[in-house]
Amino acid sequence: MPSNRSGIAIREIDQTRNFQTINMIGLAGVAFLLFFGVNAILQENYLLAAVLFGGSVFGLFSILLMRSTRNYGYGSYGISITVATIFAYLIASGGVENTGPLWCYSLFLIIMLLQGFKKGVMAFFVLLVVAIVLMFYPNLSFVSAEYSQTFKIRFIASFIALGIMASIYEYLRWKSQNDYVVISHELELASRTDALTGLANRRAMQASLEIEQSLFFRHGHPFSIIMMDLDHFKQINDKYGHGKGDELLILIARLLLKEVRQQDLVCRWGGEEFLVLLPQTNQEQSLIVAEKLRKAIEVIDLDVIGITDPVTASFGVECISATQNISELIAASDRNLYEAKRHGRNQVFDPAGRICAKGTVE
Ligand code: GH3
Ligand code: MG
Ligand code: MG
Repeated sequence: MPSNRSGIAIREIDQTRNFQTINMIGLAGVAFLLFFGVNAILQENYLLAAVLFGGSVFGLFSILLMRSTRNYGYGSYGISITVATIFAYLIASGGVENTGPLWCYSLFLIIMLLQGFKKGVMAFFVLLVVAIVLMFYPNLSFVSAEYSQTFKIRFIASFIALGIMASIYEYLRWKSQNDYVVISHELELASRTDALTGLANRRAMQASLEIEQSLFFRHGHPFSIIMMDLDHFKQINDKYGHGKGDELLILIARLLLKEVRQQDLVCRWGGEEFLVLLPQTNQEQSLIVAEKLRKAIEVIDLDVIGITDPVTASFGVECISATQNISELIAASDRNLYEAKRHGRNQVFDPAGRICAKGTVE
């Protein structure tokens, strides 16, 4: 059961940051546009005032739409379109006393921040072309500003420099963000995996048990667990060494995975103890599965790792009941396992009181 929770968590953090960015930059931008709109009226530049007020209304509308739909796209595209329009207008009109282009640097940075690396770079090229056309194409009817040749060349050059630096910065941020997702995904996986066998660990099992329990309470689907413990494992370690003991655990883990269904979860509960979760499985069915596992271990071929002694395991099975919590379920399976050990090992203990099956090897 691989998990991608950390990747999702990082994306959620990212989305929250995007919402906050739009809220803060968008609202600051709207206030800014209103201020300069009033300023433009005072300067009797009514067209500029209309553009600035129009931009602030459109920006505010985008933010409200984003907030009500929780769709970041409305906010980011809405603000970007507003900002790009004001960018073009400031260059074309010159703003107040031809100082309009000075605002274009920060306007572009807003778009880069909102759109991220790829779309930010595309926006840069679009704005660059817009700026070049507005400044250098002769006799455009809607361009009223007059800039000196030196100013125009310097503006375009400095805008390109800013674009390159912002793109590099945004690319590195985007790349490290992706690296964080990969690393945190690996960490998440490692935190839920047993390092020796590659099986799920106790933590992962605990999480799955909780999910199964809530499904049981909601829909009444029973599930069972099988607690399994290798018999006399200490003797294997003593005779063949700890390394061989480890190899045996890996082999057993592989065997368990092979024998159970896809939806079952096999976990290394600790040392030489394994816990198998069987969703949608009642007591009788899980006893059959446990017996199948017992037989498979009894005949496992250990020549490959140079162990000549027979290896067996004992099993305690328990099916969830309405009065049990997870700890009680595990404790019950543990008691049944203890009974299987007490009755001579290499067997599945049936809580109904009879020994379900008993192998020949002890
Ligand atoms: P029983 O049949 O009663 O379960 O006897 P046992 O020997 O299997 O049980 P006991 O609890 O006495 O010993 C368990 C052994 O498992 C002792 C411990 O050193 C060994 N063990 C626990 N974890 C590991 C591991 O990761 N690798 C190896 N090689 N041995 C381990
Ligand atoms: Mg043991
Ligand atoms: Mg044990």
